[in-house]
Amino acid sequence: SVVSRFAPSPTGYLHVGGARTALYAWLVARAAGGKFVLRIEDTDRERSTQEAIDAIFEGMEWLGLTWDEPPIYQTKRFDRYQTVIDQLLAEGKAYKCYCSHERLETMREEQMAAGLKPRYDGKCYGLEDQPGKPYVIRFRNPQEGSVVFDDHVRGRIEISNKELDDLIIARTDGTPTYNFCVVVDDWDMGITHVVRGEDHINNTPRQINILQALGAPIPEYAHVSMILGDDGKKLSKRHGAVSVTEYRDKGYLPEAMINYLVRLGWSHGDQEVFSRDELISIFKLSDINKAASAFNTEKLNWLNQHYMKTLPVEQVAAELAWHFEQLGIATTGGPALTAIVGLQAERVKTLREMAEISRYFYEPVTGFEEQAAKKHLRPVAGEPLRDVQQRFAALTSWTPETIQQAIQDTCAALDVGMGKVGMPLRVATTGGGNSPSLDVTLALIPQAVVVERIGLALE
Ligand code: GLU
Repeated sequence: SVVSRFAPSPTGYLHVGGARTALYAWLVARAAGGKFVLRIEDTDRERSTQEAIDAIFEGMEWLGLTWDEPPIYQTKRFDRYQTVIDQLLAEGKAYKCYCSHERLETMREEQMAAGLKPRYDGKCYGLEDQPGKPYVIRFRNPQEGSVVFDDHVRGRIEISNKELDDLIIARTDGTPTYNFCVVVDDWDMGITHVVRGEDHINNTPRQINILQALGAPIPEYAHVSMILGDDGKKLSKRHGAVSVTEYRDKGYLPEAMINYLVRLGWSHGDQEVFSRDELISIFKLSDINKAASAFNTEKLNWLNQHYMKTLPVEQVAAELAWHFEQLGIATTGGPALTAIVGLQAERVKTLREMAEISRYFYEPVTGFEEQAAKKHLRPVAGEPLRDVQQRFAALTSWTPETIQQAIQDTCAALDVGMGKVGMPLRVATTGGGNSPSLDVTLALIPQAVVVERIGLALE
């Protein structure tokens, strides 16, 4: 049965490209009812950090990309790598190479000068052991034939073994090299599907040769293309947020992020909106596009708004609660967050924005937006505000209907249009000129508070 993996190097946060790779690998497993596992490729001890490992877990958890077994750490597997190296040495499938750095360098320069691709010539293959002399260990690559694999994204790939040389699998200090660890891990973890970035495609023929030498099954491969920024350059920090948790902090829903990420390089007809369950039922690696895909914040915003409006309102409200907390706005005692979602989802792109523009439901209005105040409050608003304040104060029930009636009564009494009352009232009670419809907005704020706010604006 299917076992896929995500194998991040923990040298930084979980970025958008990594998250998309993880999502594709996760979907392959979930679509097949198989297993999804994590491997932390932490052998670069200088650059790997615990913070990065935690950030990767955090990003995966936020996106709901659950894994089925405790993560594997490469740094805990050196004994195992050593065992496999010893086995390859004993079988003559690997050998000690004593060539000096100078010899290798000279050879490289000569090959380059002759227009050839630099390649180790296999000089040490079959040599007697030379005790006391430093050595690396090389895998004996097949000399004839070629490596063929059918990549799910890039199609059939064939590399002649003449183009591959004898890869170093252990350094002079005995530590195993990257490609070798990956092979042993994929084998031990029973990986059937390798989904990873296209930057690894040159490693694949080498890895397949080693797997074959070990008698290990060869997984299926999918090498996914890069993600570009909206300017066509490789996505990076200068395009704005690149870590997945930054999108959480900016107020995107995980459902929107998943939907957005999956469409960065995968398509199903011209459909844009996919639920997680739907993805699990229709996702196929072969539907991944070969071309690089470009990041498009507008599309992400559109999806986020779609999910704010269509997900169960309690679910959106629960996420919104977190953003209020982040902004230090206490919401207990104020209107239910579900009411805020219902009222504001149409008006914002993110939950963060939603929390920001909803402050007046939970906190006193401490100032007015300058433009709005200048236009609607300062010159002539005294009379309508006083009139509507009195009517509000006298109401015996506080509902959108009674509020609306009181506003209309003021308009009639003063013989002015709606805007002459509504706009000053809006600025007085919300601090700005952009709230949703006043009847429903004010009904969510206690009657006494509204009356008081009008009084303060009149001062
Ligand atoms: N650790 C590699 C990376 O972060 C992934 C290697 C693999 O998936 O085989 O790019």
